[in-house]
Amino acid sequence: MSVEELGRKVSAARAATEARGETFYPGASRVHLASFPPKERWDDWVELDSRAWPRRVERRYLLVPTTCFNCESACGLLAYVDRESLRIQKFEGNPEHPGSRGRNCAKGPATLNQVTDPDRILYPLKRAGRRGEGRWERVSWDEALDDLAGRIRRALVEKRQGEIMYHVGRPGEDGFTERVLANWGVDGHNTHTNICSAAARAGYELWCGIDRPSPDHANAKVILLVSAHLESGHYFNPHAQRIMEGKQRGAKLIVLDSRLSNTATHADVWAAPIPGSEAAIFLAVANHLVRHRLYDREFVRRWWNWQQYLEAEHPDLPPTFASFESVLASLYESYTFELAAAESGVAVPVLQEIAAAVGGAGSRLATHTWRSAASGNLGGWQVARTLFLLNALLGAVATPGGTYPNAWNKFVPKPIHLPGHPEHWNELTWPQEYPLATYELSFLLPHLLKDGRGKLDVYFTRVYNPVWTNPDGFTWIEALTDERLVGLHAALTPTWNETAYFADYVLPMGHGAERHDIHSYETHDAQWLGFRQPVLRAARERLGETVGDSRETNPGEVWEENDFWLELTWRIDPDGSLGIRKFAESAARPGERLSVDEYYRYIFEHSVPGLPERAAAEGLEPLAFMRRYGAFEIAREIGPLHERQVPPAELEDVAEDRYGRVYTRAPKPASPNLVPVGSPDPDAEGRRAAGVRVDGKVLAGFPTPSGRLEFYSATLASWGWREQALPAYIRSHVHPESLGPDRFCLISTFRLPVHIHTRSANAKWLDEIAHSNPLWIHPGDAARLGIETGDLVRIETDIGHFVDKAWVTEGIRPGVVACSHHMGRWRLADQGRQDLRAGPAGSAGPGGRGDRGQAGQPGQAGETGQRQLMATVALGREGNRWTMRRRGGVAPYASSDPDSARIWWTDVGVHQNLTFPVHPDPVSGMHCWHQAVRVRRAEPGDRYGEIAADTGKAHQVYQEWLARTRPAVRNSPDGTRRPHWLIRPLRPSREAYRLPRSGPAAAAGAQPPTGPIGPSAADPVGR
Ligand code: SF4
Repeated sequence: MSVEELGRKVSAARAATEARGETFYPGASRVHLASFPPKERWDDWVELDSRAWPRRVERRYLLVPTTCFNCESACGLLAYVDRESLRIQKFEGNPEHPGSRGRNCAKGPATLNQVTDPDRILYPLKRAGRRGEGRWERVSWDEALDDLAGRIRRALVEKRQGEIMYHVGRPGEDGFTERVLANWGVDGHNTHTNICSAAARAGYELWCGIDRPSPDHANAKVILLVSAHLESGHYFNPHAQRIMEGKQRGAKLIVLDSRLSNTATHADVWAAPIPGSEAAIFLAVANHLVRHRLYDREFVRRWWNWQQYLEAEHPDLPPTFASFESVLASLYESYTFELAAAESGVAVPVLQEIAAAVGGAGSRLATHTWRSAASGNLGGWQVARTLFLLNALLGAVATPGGTYPNAWNKFVPKPIHLPGHPEHWNELTWPQEYPLATYELSFLLPHLLKDGRGKLDVYFTRVYNPVWTNPDGFTWIEALTDERLVGLHAALTPTWNETAYFADYVLPMGHGAERHDIHSYETHDAQWLGFRQPVLRAARERLGETVGDSRETNPGEVWEENDFWLELTWRIDPDGSLGIRKFAESAARPGERLSVDEYYRYIFEHSVPGLPERAAAEGLEPLAFMRRYGAFEIAREIGPLHERQVPPAELEDVAEDRYGRVYTRAPKPASPNLVPVGSPDPDAEGRRAAGVRVDGKVLAGFPTPSGRLEFYSATLASWGWREQALPAYIRSHVHPESLGPDRFCLISTFRLPVHIHTRSANAKWLDEIAHSNPLWIHPGDAARLGIETGDLVRIETDIGHFVDKAWVTEGIRPGVVACSHHMGRWRLADQGRQDLRAGPAGSAGPGGRGDRGQAGQPGQAGETGQRQLMATVALGREGNRWTMRRRGGVAPYASSDPDSARIWWTDVGVHQNLTFPVHPDPVSGMHCWHQAVRVRRAEPGDRYGEIAADTGKAHQVYQEWLARTRPAVRNSPDGTRRPHWLIRPLRPSREAYRLPRSGPAAAAGAQPPTGPIGPSAADPVGR
């Protein structure tokens, strides 16, 4: 029905009602045909109470914005806070948010489930028995803070900074905690990035000094995606809506995914390659572009570092662009469609269709790869590097419909205090074997601890669940239960998780509607800032109340991390003698602790261009503006920043290298935008890199050593990886030749659109939609193995096996099996009786039913787990051999939420990651997720969800992969641990980059090979 028709019907209904002498009800909102409540009405929005139907009962709401915390997209939410009860009735989209524009995926509204979750953690808890035993007692925040502060202070005073570590999964904020650690002088920042996106980041960073892409999907002519960005990818909802806009405007969508994802079903071209062969496909497309001269010659001439490449690898040729083009013409000629078809299993005509589409895209080619192939395969970082090669060839870089470096579409504002760089280097996060790793080698932590490379005195996990999320979780349990390796473990989490069971403190932190954060992401060609806030606190303030701490409005004693870290810092250094208290000190009231309000007020008033003026136009202070609307658009249509001419004032006493890199002694202009980017080294005389000369003009260029896009990476070449210095194809560890005839490649990483890793098990609406993860297997493979849908199958990895149900489907490539990683959550049975120490004496064995052994949890629901999507399991251990046996799935239960008695599902899926060894890529440090597995019908004694793994074998596999590295100690060209220009979160001081005279890495790792650089006709696939 058209708007006009609807309007006519409403008018007719009004006339008819009034003709009967009755009063016409204009609708609760008094607003017709609006997608969202108009912002002018957010103080008193009226809706009918659906539960009162058929009675017409109006309810009034305050609409308070916040930001979803259920994935990295940071979409805006609007909390509907009942004006009478001051309870949150629901969450919908925030139309004022520039990234999500009022839309959310299913996980956004499900934030309400998390807030009202009957099983959530409401009070600080301290373990009362052995670590991992499952006995807890309630403690006060003061007790926990004093204990932690005292321990950290002692470590700082005794110069044991390396024993303090903060390990974060989803940060959901931009740099707050990183700065806390820097202020403590601790190089203890650890993330989940190397089990997530480190490989793709490496590929992008080596090209442009910025480690993420920002595709402009909405204006693209061709959208080329590796994996499932439309349903579950990075910046999922904001990107999905723009991909669909692009499609509506005629863009062609090409999807590479070995699995028929929901994204693939929307593609114009879906190719299901052999996992890990994607780079071969992209090089064949690149070859097509070069051979047919479809590339943007001017862009390549102006912006690639071809001169540097010629000088390094072809010094005999004249240093001209013509020389380079002649080399380029032959460089990828071995990558024919036939070769790519043989590698990928994708038919030549499909590859030709993809190449023709890409070739016709011009500068409107939007490409994206993030996890998927890059994160699954050995050498996956070259998937990103070869994909971006297509953009770089077409000049589709920072163009409408092209792909931007993310730093230009993101904004991180400067905070009130900016600490310096820690003076030491943490070998537990940045071991010498991985000088080029994009992020911390986080998933190796238990192995590094077991190797005796260090120990931890205080270990924080925060929104991070390595026992469940990481590969090789049993090795994590072994490390976490060994108090010689981990002195104290504090889990900062809103909900129970598998890692929190092995903590000393479990400290309840707020969900997305219960905490403050700011964030900004590359959703499109713009810069915006989003503000997360405790919505009930903001609602009470709007009603005129004064609220201090978020604990006053959060359930139980749930706190927020900003306040927690400020208070902890304050207690570590109560008299300021360590010099770190100042980070937590108020600027407005010296001597008092900084409040969260002052922290954000400062940022919004001083560091966000345009925000004070925009707020003033509405008669608001900047902080009040952000509390009211939840987001602010700083700029849009940022455009090609590399083309910006450097002003003469910034070119004082310049020097220029032979490739046109321009250095200056002029001070760096202060920028309010602190997005991390590459930090090119100064020249020999200490001038800073200011730009790059292109056709006579000094332009801003890219934050790479050359200032240009680095087709040739002198960094890779000089740090021992010369043969990989150009975009190239590396055969995966799960290439068919490595697998042999009887093994499959297991894809274990794909997401379900309605779940997020470890934080959605307590969202009942999501649990009801998705609660299993069967093994996808092709009918041909299934028939060969005698498997039918629903059959129990045993999937054997290098270190153990898991038992799952089969789903026979044409939606998976033959020879490949797949299992989503979102499922298989568990909680321990027989708590208080489990002894997980090594050896038969400590073996828990299958055990019998026992009491839950909880030592009292005042104020808790009496459960240490989420009962809506966690199986109850028993762990067993004999030496290195671990087993997990399932005691039960989920069942209805009585709680404060009547819906918990209506649970109808019993399945919760299977936890496969426990059976995976670590596979650290020797360059990017990324865990290469794909597994080589055998699949067979389950044995008679096998039970669904059963798991076995051998941590001795796991350590062996770790050592095998370690031997592939080329450690800094042998390959560093300048005696440092890592190229200083590469991005590193929490960058330590320059001095800390220097290698020690001897180190544990000296004996490990491989020697670099010698020989020609780049793909050769004789060995195009780098065997
Ligand atoms: S995509 Fe969904 S889960 Fe992610 S932030 Fe947006 S609404 Fe939340």
